[in-house]
Amino acid sequence: MKQLPAETVRLLSSSQVITSVVSVVKELIENSLDANATSIDVKLENYGFDKIEVRDNGDGIKAADIPVMAVKHYTSKISCPEDLESLTTYGFRGEALGSICCISEVLITTKTAADDFSTQYILDSSGHVTSQKPSHLGQGTTVTALKLFKNLPVRKQFYSTVKKCKEELKKIQDLLMAYGIIKPELRIIFTHNKCQSFKEDSAPTKT
Ligand code: ADP
Ligand code: MG
Repeated sequence: MKQLPAETVRLLSSSQVITSVVSVVKELIENSLDANATSIDVKLENYGFDKIEVRDNGDGIKAADIPVMAVKHYTSKISCPEDLESLTTYGFRGEALGSICCISEVLITTKTAADDFSTQYILDSSGHVTSQKPSHLGQGTTVTALKLFKNLPVRKQFYSTVKKCKEELKKIQDLLMAYGIIKPELRIIFTHNKCQSFKEDSAPTKT
């Protein structure tokens, strides 16, 4: 048995994290929850292949973290191996945003409590910011992934039937429902092609 070179490990791990629409949605929602969001909006177009957008009202991303937010192995959640023993967040590998940048075109709009207005950043496939402009959103972060798997024809092929796409949509709804159940305070809305098909409100339905 041989140990893989670091570069190979990097490539393997990225293609492992993000292999489906539901895995993109899961990573983005977990980032929102890690940022203390109480409201999350998930919007898909064409089953997520044209667009996946997750908007939260969480802490936002600090100006100092912007240049590396989507560069692999940068994370604000741990800083040394010992931190792994006391994890309080879903994320800690610093891989998700970088992996999503590898398989789609990513825009991130964010505003912290300290910022006067939100800013939209466009990222390239390596997760680096290529441009930015002021925007009008409130506090929190919106991650938009366009043209998913545009460079991975085999992945797209896997979803070439409507049946597969519908199965994937169902998995996403189940996932959101599960977060709604474990986080009763969370308001979570799911929209596919402008049609709202799932709404988990913070208002308790039973007492
Ligand atoms: P990880 O979650 O393992 O740290 P990610 O690639 O998912 O890695 O995210 C990288 C970093 O970007 C996070 O550590 C966090 O600082 C920031 N980030 C990502 N999404 C959000 C969000 N929705 N709100 C605030 N910060 C975020
Ligand atoms: Mg994460």
